[in-house]
Amino acid sequence: MRFDVITLFPELFGPFLEAGVTRRAYESRQVDVRLWALRDFADGNYRRVDDRPFGGGPGMVMMAAPLARCLQAIRAERADAAPVVLFSPVGARLDHAAVAQWSASAGAVLVCGRYEGIDQRFIDTHVDVQVSLGDFVLSGGEIAAMALLDAVARLQPGVLNDEGSHQLDSFNPALDGLLDCPHYTRPETWDGQPVPAALLSGHHAQIERWRRDRRLEITARHRPDLIAAARAAGRLTQVDEAVLAKPAKNCL
Ligand code: SAH
Repeated sequence: MRFDVITLFPELFGPFLEAGVTRRAYESRQVDVRLWALRDFADGNYRRVDDRPFGGGPGMVMMAAPLARCLQAIRAERADAAPVVLFSPVGARLDHAAVAQWSASAGAVLVCGRYEGIDQRFIDTHVDVQVSLGDFVLSGGEIAAMALLDAVARLQPGVLNDEGSHQLDSFNPALDGLLDCPHYTRPETWDGQPVPAALLSGHHAQIERWRRDRRLEITARHRPDLIAAARAAGRLTQVDEAVLAKPAKNCL
């Protein structure tokens, strides 16, 4: 899959693409990320990409023409009709379902806004979908683009060290969309606190039940909406319901 990123700050992506488990996905081009410096598509000696807003008010607005030229160059390079994604507070909040969809797609063109945002006429003409990272305002779309790329890359086969381990993560349908259970590592006792005995038992079924119970408790406490969704989808067993009916253990 290929993601073409339009940005005023391509240099922000360098360290991100070179670090951590996702690095091999980018290096092998399993997730092929191409950076497009918007300023290369600007007019004149000043390489201007923004201008003052009509109607007055603070800040600057990204001009449509450089964005359109950049998009045209991308279209000339990639044969498919990849959708154009704009990162914006207007969009639907990014979640696991959307990430899973993108991770099974051929990719997209990602547009990172800056300043007050971009000229609405470019959005009306070229943008297919708007994506938000949450109900807050960033200074630019780059962090949102990196969030999408990172979440997509870790779902690719072979990217995480342990094949299929992403299926054990929060929100994954493989675990009924629940939140993750707590994790422990050595030493067995730290600061007077022992690791829960079930995890040291060596009994696979007992460990799995313990983890399922904690997932249920944590999800019920922090995201009751996810419990409701799992219940509505018929994913909770009688044993699960019995766990949820008891007061939660103090491991949250
Ligand atoms: N004036 C805009 C904010 C512009 S912030 C408003 O009030 O909605 C500049 C750029 O940062 C935006 O064009 C967008 O690309 C990006 N951005 C800001 N907040 C974001 C969010 N929550 N999710 C995704 N992108 C965001």
